Amino acid sequence: MEKRLERTTVLKGSRLIDGLGGDVLKNAVVFIEEGRIKEIGMEGRITLPAGAEVIDMADCTLLPGLLDIHLHCSAHNVLTFKNYRISQLEVTPPLQMLYTLLHQQIMLEMGFTTLRDHPWPNAYGGHNSVELVALRDAVEAGIFAGPRLVVGGYATMTGSHLDLIVPRGCRREPDATADGPWELRKLVRRQLRVGVDFIKTCASGGGGTDKEAPDVRNMTQEELDAVVDEAHALDKHCACHCFTPTAQKMAIRAGADTIDHCVFTDDEAIDMLVSEKKFIVPTLLHRSDRAIEVRKRVGTSDFTLNKMKMLQPTTKETFQRFIKAGVRIAMGTDTQIDAEMGANAHELEIYVNYGMTPMEAIQTATKNAAEAIWLGRETGTLEPGKFADIIAVKGDPLSDIRILQEKEKIMIVMKEGKVFVDRRPGHKKLVIHDEAWGWKRM
Ligand SMILES: [Zn+2]
Repeated sequence: MEKRLERTTVLKGSRLIDGLGGDVLKNAVVFIEEGRIKEIGMEGRITLPAGAEVIDMADCTLLPGLLDIHLHCSAHNVLTFKNYRISQLEVTPPLQMLYTLLHQQIMLEMGFTTLRDHPWPNAYGGHNSVELVALRDAVEAGIFAGPRLVVGGYATMTGSHLDLIVPRGCRREPDATADGPWELRKLVRRQLRVGVDFIKTCASGGGGTDKEAPDVRNMTQEELDAVVDEAHALDKHCACHCFTPTAQKMAIRAGADTIDHCVFTDDEAIDMLVSEKKFIVPTLLHRSDRAIEVRKRVGTSDFTLNKMKMLQPTTKETFQRFIKAGVRIAMGTDTQIDAEMGANAHELEIYVNYGMTPMEAIQTATKNAAEAIWLGRETGTLEPGKFADIIAVKGDPLSDIRILQEKEKIMIVMKEGKVFVDRRPGHKKLVIHDEAWGWKRM
């Protein structure tokens, strides 16, 4: 392939948070070359290349592009559908793929430069991993603007929590789930053949389904071991949905890489999480009042709404036990039907309300999230050699974490040195059409 033209950019900001957790750098200058960070320093202390494009973001804080490592961009669109159950049946897989791209682009506009996108069922009773892989590759090829995508494939048993998300009356594709270690290994291999980056599995029931208790077991230890082993054998990581301490212990024993949700826990599970240095992905926004409001609007059953509300105090207590014990936390929201796509940084406000410092909260969505999905060498912190995935936000998120939720304060979104979003006056550049254009509710 032809070598890209040499591009050098200098990005300046009043403050810089590098994601490593140390001091904030004042009057920061980032020198970017060929999509990567070449040098970072204080204004006047580093020599800048002649002829570089200078983007001067006074009053702004520069920080690493954000990551959400648990969301479902291909969930049926609640921005345009009044009832999500109807949309699950009305939306064909090709249309679902277009909604997925819209959601991913909304995320990029909100400062998320990398997503670990978990699959979602389609109206045909399968999952949409093939479509996610296509979107990942199209974005990578530069055909569409979007965040960097790390996409998943499901490997779970018949009747697992993830299987129950499909409406009961839907036909299922026969190979959407599998049972027994060898059939599950085959399912993992099939997913990896499609080209996914990670395997998503499931060790317990969950919150967002009708008539399902969260503490039912999903999969035997033998089955879970097979799924994780097969993913690792082919050099892919594995995310495991776990609500209960039993599920957490099974997932850790199997060697899963991220332990997602963790509504309930116990001392033994916490000890194992700490000693195995596992990342948990809390997804608290998904059980917040905000999420419940959205769900009410789009036709979720009272059973599910009550289950979400009932779990709130437990998620808080569990989260506080985790931070006290020093469990590693990586940010994921489980955004899907709720809350609104793009509201993901509200998750960080919940972490701060529950006792994290704003700096620690930012690290969950930068350094920790990148490490959890095996991208720690490429992104998640601002350091020489890493991708220039950088956002500039108006104000200081360390004094008010809510700044990261406000679209009009996300001034610059840069991915691999290229500016995709620029909200400076006179520079308006966005990825998708602005709100004035609008979309219809169906
Ligand atoms: Zn999920």
